[in-house]
Order: sequence, then structure tokens, then C-alpha cells
Amino acid sequence: MSVREEFDEWAAAGKDRGMEDRHWHTAKHVLARMPVEDGDAVLDLGTGSGYALRALRERGIGRAYGLDGAPEMARNARSYTDDDAVGFLVGDFDELPFADDSLDHVFSMEAFYYAADPHHTLEEVRRVLKPGGTFYCAVNYFAESEETHAWQENISVDMTLWSRDEYREAFREAGLYVAEQDAIPDREIDIPDPEAFPTDDWDSREAMVDRYRTWGTLLTVGVAP
Ligand code: SAH
Repeated sequence: MSVREEFDEWAAAGKDRGMEDRHWHTAKHVLARMPVEDGDAVLDLGTGSGYALRALRERGIGRAYGLDGAPEMARNARSYTDDDAVGFLVGDFDELPFADDSLDHVFSMEAFYYAADPHHTLEEVRRVLKPGGTFYCAVNYFAESEETHAWQENISVDMTLWSRDEYREAFREAGLYVAEQDAIPDREIDIPDPEAFPTDDWDSREAMVDRYRTWGTLLTVGVAP
């Protein structure tokens, strides 16, 4: 299945809102760290429901662009806000429809690893960022977080499984300075008492703790020279 087919199905099933609720636990901390200023232009790669841009607009950014490969995702995102300063585009991480040096910041949550050629996508991000612009790249699927590795079995789109070091290395290769890297735990998801395990989703309490409290979301921050 293509990105479009896979994620149009998710959007039609309402999974965009479910992701928003779950991802918000850590995405809000990522967004809070972004050095946005009044009037900035910000791109959200793989925007899903578009929640990140709605939140950043409340902090005063000027133009917000949500790019997604699935038209149904973009359509849903559009329906959740009537803010004219937020625009949604259908496009691919392979070729960002923006001019060189045109954006102040780029954000992405739980989407980057779907890029068909992640190295090229990083070069694209570097190209569209203004000097000093930042890329806040957040992923829950990464090498150290072993409990996430099985996700690929349920998703038809090939996923890139990099380690923390591989993220830093790839950012540098694409010409981005790495300003920060951090694992942001999800402290909000409820982890039941030991007696509740195994559950439908988890074999053991340790596995759930490892996934959410130990690893959570990997944030890598790149800065354009
Ligand atoms: N950022 C949102 C959505 C995450 S789901 C959130 O945190 O909830 C990943 C999103 O990325 C999906 O909406 C999917 O359609 C989009 N996506 C995946 N691969 C893509 C690609 N190659 N180009 C553009 N969008 C892509």
C-alpha cells in the first residue's frame, strides 16, 4: 500500500484524532521547546489532524503549513480549524513544495520514519529552512525503544528504524547542526498494576514501562547553518 492508501484509511476510521490524543502526551513538550516567535512560518511534516499547528498558532506564529501524503488526513485537518493562517497541503516528504530558505521552523511528530528516502528528506528540510531555522523531529519508533519495533508488521509503508546516534549522524550529513537530542517520557498514559498483566496489548508491565516511561518520544533538533 502507498502512504496515501494506508493513511487515507486511517483518516476515514478516525485514527487521526486518536493519534492526536496519544501523541499530545509528549508532543506538547516538544512544541513547548520550539523557539517560535511572532509571525514565524512553520511547516508540520505529516500533520495528521493538524493539532501541532493549531497549538503553535496560539503562540503567535504567522503562517502554518500542514503537509500530508494522505488527502483524507489533510481534509480532516482542514475541518478541525477555520483559522485562515493555517493551510493544509497534500504532498510527499520527498519533495517539499517550498522555496529555499523560506521557513522559520519545521516540526514533525511520528511521521519522519515513513519517508521513502529519509536522508533526502533531511536535505529537503535543510533546503527550505532559513539560516538558524530549526527542525524538531519527534519519533516514538526508534532502535532503543524495542517495544515499538513490531509496529512495522501492521503497517504496509516501509519504516526506517534508526538509533539515536543514527538520527544525529543523518542530520549532520544533511547539513543540519544537532542542537539537542532527548527522550521525552510519556508520564500520562495509565500503566495498570502488575496484576493486570498480560493485557490485550502488553505481555508485561515492564514492557509498557520501557515503551512509555523509559523511552517515550525521541526528539532530535536540527539547526540550519
Ligand atoms: N503528526 C501526526 C500524524 C502522525 S501519523 C500526529 O502526531 O498524530 C503520520 C502521518 O504522516 C500520516 O498522516 C501520514 O499520511 C503522513 N505521511 C507518512 N508518510 C508520508 C510521506 N512520505 N509524505 C507525506 N506524508 C506522509
